[in-house]
Amino acid sequence: MGTRALEGKIALVTGGSRGIGRAIAQRLGRDGATVAVAYARDEAAANEVVARIGADGGRAIALHAELGRHGDAAALWAAFDAHADEYAPGGVVDIIVNNAGIGRSPDLASLTEDGFDEVFAVNVRAPFFVVQQGLRRLRDGGRIINISSGAARLAMPEIIAYGATKGALDTFTLNLAKQLGPRGITANSVAPGIIDTDNNASWLRGNPEAEAGAAALAALGRVGRPEDVADIVAFLASDDARWVTGRVIDATGGSGL
Ligand code: NAD
Repeated sequence: MGTRALEGKIALVTGGSRGIGRAIAQRLGRDGATVAVAYARDEAAANEVVARIGADGGRAIALHAELGRHGDAAALWAAFDAHADEYAPGGVVDIIVNNAGIGRSPDLASLTEDGFDEVFAVNVRAPFFVVQQGLRRLRDGGRIINISSGAARLAMPEIIAYGATKGALDTFTLNLAKQLGPRGITANSVAPGIIDTDNNASWLRGNPEAEAGAAALAALGRVGRPEDVADIVAFLASDDARWVTGRVIDATGGSGL
């Protein structure tokens, strides 16, 4: 076997305990990166991801940090630093994946200020400060990958605040690319369409009509899988993607074509 694409790299994946984040953590681990799997509440699930990466021949560690309104990025980096000697010599990170996010977000009429603050705290505030406080640890030539959503560019009034958080995230990505380019650091967003994760389970799974409707939105005619997104992230994290920055990479299977 040749050298794996991310051999020797250190990656941090927020919301790595389940869904898309889990698939990203596992894929980066298979590509040779040592993966810090950040989780908020589901320790058992995070440990399972760590064990799976180990079983695949990789290295990983679970880091506990709440990132919403009641959390702060400093706690995440403190957890990272606390274990750095074991897996990230010098406390250096090569790849930051801001994946943690929440989709709960009603239409304008039923939106509360509290609900607005919550979705912006997890989806926007957290990535801003994870990056701000991670910058001194991020190696020149490193990667920032933000998990956005196709909802940033589609009118979906039923989840109006959620869509706005992802629009904000994409603009953040654009600015990071410009600011960090001189250090050889790339910053890109990946924008999934509907992906079969626990987040969508309540309305999607076991509901053939809903699944058919969701599948029909994609030109490729099926609902997305977490691995469909993780494989794109792995590319962006690799040296092959060194000349791509400041972009939103579509991961919707061709929705809205
Ligand atoms: P999920 O609900 O299955 O997982 C979300 C992850 O974020 C979990 O690990 C959770 O612990 C973490 N998280 C949530 N709130 C947190 C908090 N306050 N502090 C720290 N961590 C927190 O979701 P998913 O479907 O895997 O989505 C992952 C990302 O992809 C999100 O940013 C989401 O907006 C985006 N996305 C998902 C879809 C989809 O259809 N599933 C589509 C487009 C974009």
